[in-house]
Amino acid sequence: MAVLPVSDTIAAIATPPGTGGIGIIRISGPLAPAIMQKLFRPARPRSTFESHKLYYGTITDPDGRVLDEILAVHMRAPHTYTREDVVELHSHGSYLVLQSVLAAVLACGARPAEPGEFTKRAFLAGRIDLTRAEAVIDLLKARTSDGIQLAVHQLQGELYARVERIRQGLVAILAVIEVAIDFPDEDVEILDIPQLREQLHQEVEEPLARLLAEADRGRILREGVKVVIAGRPNVGKSSLLNALLREDRALVTAVPGTTRDTIEEVVSIHGVPVFLVDTAGIREHADQVEELGIERARSKFKEADLILFMVDASRGMEAEDQALYESIAGKERIIVLNKIDVAARKDVELLEERFAGEEIVWMSAREGRGLDILEERMYRRFLGGDDRLQEQLACAPNLRHRLILEQTARACTRLRQALELAAPPDLLAVEVQAALDYLGDIVGITTPDDVLDTIFSSFCIGK
Ligand code: GDP
Ligand code: ZN
Repeated sequence: MAVLPVSDTIAAIATPPGTGGIGIIRISGPLAPAIMQKLFRPARPRSTFESHKLYYGTITDPDGRVLDEILAVHMRAPHTYTREDVVELHSHGSYLVLQSVLAAVLACGARPAEPGEFTKRAFLAGRIDLTRAEAVIDLLKARTSDGIQLAVHQLQGELYARVERIRQGLVAILAVIEVAIDFPDEDVEILDIPQLREQLHQEVEEPLARLLAEADRGRILREGVKVVIAGRPNVGKSSLLNALLREDRALVTAVPGTTRDTIEEVVSIHGVPVFLVDTAGIREHADQVEELGIERARSKFKEADLILFMVDASRGMEAEDQALYESIAGKERIIVLNKIDVAARKDVELLEERFAGEEIVWMSAREGRGLDILEERMYRRFLGGDDRLQEQLACAPNLRHRLILEQTARACTRLRQALELAAPPDLLAVEVQAALDYLGDIVGITTPDDVLDTIFSSFCIGK
């Protein structure tokens, strides 16, 4: 366990602004108990406070003016989030009151906490490993229930446990190699190369590959996907967008489009945040029908994880459809044949033929037909349609983890090649050590300071 350096005392409003009438001021550091003694007047006068017990009373400024009625708690070190003395003041007042309470706390010698500083202290005190610290960020940012699940699991240390098992596998290999380094003159061959290769494969490479495979899906659950609806004017793009939004009104948030040419909305499809982009958007509907040029549309397609290519089935493929279709060559896409309600049978057959080999969904955006199927297909595309997904993703790595896992995997490849060449043990040891160092970065054993700062500064203040 790391020995805590003497640190200053930090304070912040720990609850987000503007929500309801309750808020928490969190104070961490050596001055915390004295600040509580000075500013808090318990309803029943007393000189000491038991740890981890809520007391009712009033909070004052340093001059004794009452600011609010609050609940206060002192949590004595080290059984706290930061492992320091922590005081929390639960105010029932408005955000303005919270700010005046915070001002009083700062006047007593605390300083304002930087974003993520509480969690950084928890990490530095060895209270949580880095994967769990990051899970706290994800929890704050999670947009959907599945994203929250993911963060909660990670918070409980599942990713940590799996990385640690891989590390142990490497440590075991290193131990064998070090014996060979220490006893170079033995007559018997100490290194059982095939055995080591098997061990490397089973205990390191395979679990690493599994984690990497999950990283991509984890990103999707965490950050969502971008779906662009493409199609010439009037095929029904906006109708589809609206239909998808209506399906899920409770979860709909408007996201301002990055340009005035597009409308972007976010919906949750089976828990996946989906950013829907209607490529024609605002201008077309501002009566001055002005389509996106193919070039501009193409730049939108570039950003898309999936394209819904819409065709008006009652009119079939026209020249403009064809040009757009060619511009999405090679992209992930689903062909959406709309206006099935007014399409003739022979149009349907022609289009079926035209898009043979493509994934097709027939629908009527106006009547809401085919929507469920479209959503199901989209979901399958994003996540491979695996029903056991939630379990598998219990600890999906984030981008930082993934980059490190890839570096680890490369070190393992070099190690395997060195094993195949029967390289000298000290060379083998170098590669094992490299892989170990990378993995250490994930859980924060060897994480350089600047990486730490980046991670923690993406927190909200007060966390
Ligand atoms: P956009 O220009 O691609 O965004 O197309 P809109 O969504 O604005 O639709 C153009 C026209 O087609 C509107 O009059 C819609 O009511 C109509 N429309 C859209 N979807 C359907 C559909 O499934 N069936 C029928 N019959 N009309 C539709
Ligand atoms: Zn439109």
